[in-house]
Amino acid sequence: MSKTCDITQTVQSFKFDTIGFIESPYKEKFAIPRQPNLVSAAKGKVVLVGEANNHELVRDIEQFSHLWLLFVFHGTQEQGWKPLVRPPRLGGNVKTGVLATRSTFRPNPIGMSVVNLDKVVTEKKQTILHISGLDLLNGTPIIDIKPYVPYSDAVINANGGFAQEQPEAALSVVFSEQMQADLIKYQQRDSELALLIEQVLKQDPRPAYKRGKTDDKIYGMSLYDLNIQWQLITLDTVLVLNMTQVTK
Ligand code: SAM
Repeated sequence: MSKTCDITQTVQSFKFDTIGFIESPYKEKFAIPRQPNLVSAAKGKVVLVGEANNHELVRDIEQFSHLWLLFVFHGTQEQGWKPLVRPPRLGGNVKTGVLATRSTFRPNPIGMSVVNLDKVVTEKKQTILHISGLDLLNGTPIIDIKPYVPYSDAVINANGGFAQEQPEAALSVVFSEQMQADLIKYQQRDSELALLIEQVLKQDPRPAYKRGKTDDKIYGMSLYDLNIQWQLITLDTVLVLNMTQVTK
């Protein structure tokens, strides 16, 4: 008699070790883009740790322009998961099966993002992958890294369901005189800061249900060690008011 495989007897839980941590300009969830590659000016690092902090693991990885990062949604993990979620792409009011979305509230809080690989540096026994276009919270634990392989990973004519097209950048961004003066002070430290702020705000980080509605609230967002204040001045224009350095 042939032996059949009882799938309930296969391993039902797994233990993975963190192989690295993300250093990201995004210090809180608010204003992180909803997918990678929407904000090209966002630059970060994968800092390898433990046994994975060995330059041999990344030998030849620079041949690839992009990487898949597999990570744990550590910032929302404790909130558990739900079978139905409300994707921002559907306006935040329509419920959809969690596995039909990229929601963070999943049965296993695992995320995956394709990011640009800019360079790999090993210094004083520390290997760091410099990446850009990320959509990850600072401190995100990485559980695997794989090269992005276009012939297989980019599926021409794939159906993207309710997320077929890249979301249109909803807002235009202008800087107040105060903010322009603030930016000049930081110019030397980061010449791309204004671009990063513009790209982040263009995506309209507010909750999806606020889109297209008047809104006089003054919002604050954290990038690096900066708190940046902004406000909608028309239905589709953001005025960046000022920024201050947050002292620890
Ligand atoms: N590209 C990934 C994916 O498809 O699995 C993530 C998509 S998820 C919709 C993107 C959002 O996850 C970001 O806007 C941010 O709010 C949130 N996020 C990023 N890193 C996180 C983390 N470590 N813990 C919890 N939430 C995180």
